[in-house]
Amino acid sequence: MTSILIAEDEPRIASFLEKGLKAKGFNTAVAPDAAAVMQMVFNDNFDLLLLDLGLPEKDGLEVLEELRGQGADLPIIILTARDDINDKIAGLEGGADDYVTKPFRFEELVARINLRLRSNQTTSNNKSSLLQVGQIILDLRTRKVEYKGKQIELPAKEFTLLETFMEHPGQVMTREQLLDRVWGYDYDPGSNIVDVYIGYLRKKLSSKAIETVRGVGYRLGR
Ligand code: CA
Repeated sequence: MTSILIAEDEPRIASFLEKGLKAKGFNTAVAPDAAAVMQMVFNDNFDLLLLDLGLPEKDGLEVLEELRGQGADLPIIILTARDDINDKIAGLEGGADDYVTKPFRFEELVARINLRLRSNQTTSNNKSSLLQVGQIILDLRTRKVEYKGKQIELPAKEFTLLETFMEHPGQVMTREQLLDRVWGYDYDPGSNIVDVYIGYLRKKLSSKAIETVRGVGYRLGR
């Protein structure tokens, strides 16, 4: 059975979510604060996390960063009362897969949950664990990266960006393709987020690891 962890400090909202999700056939558990979230994600086997950004003591965005930093790779959907665009971008850049702004329609939340669960399933079924191109090796299960024999730490989005290049060796990827695949979100096409993240990868790998193909996009270096 699919298990969903609900990180939410307000009992009324948590119980509303639990009741609704149980009625849809999901297993649920509630974590009322950051410490409980960390503990439950790493000790139990949840398939997805709903993360309220307004948690007591520690901000949801910090919790997100810690989770991804410690290798939690379950899909995470942010629940937030803040419709501030900066929070949304920070959440998606911090490794969330999607977000829903409160108040939301329950059916919409369920649709987004199912979408995330499905795409996660396809990812884990269709790929072998190791992906290697040249001197770069990605372990998709442990999220570890090796470059020229050395281990490198990559946050979630940088990892997915590199993974996208590795899945298409030698192919030029456009900004739009990368935005769509990595951020999976209707970004402003004028956003320079792709270029910024390419910069991060070059810094951690080498300046030649990813080539700029002028006027088109980027390609994994040879
Ligand atoms: Ca809250």
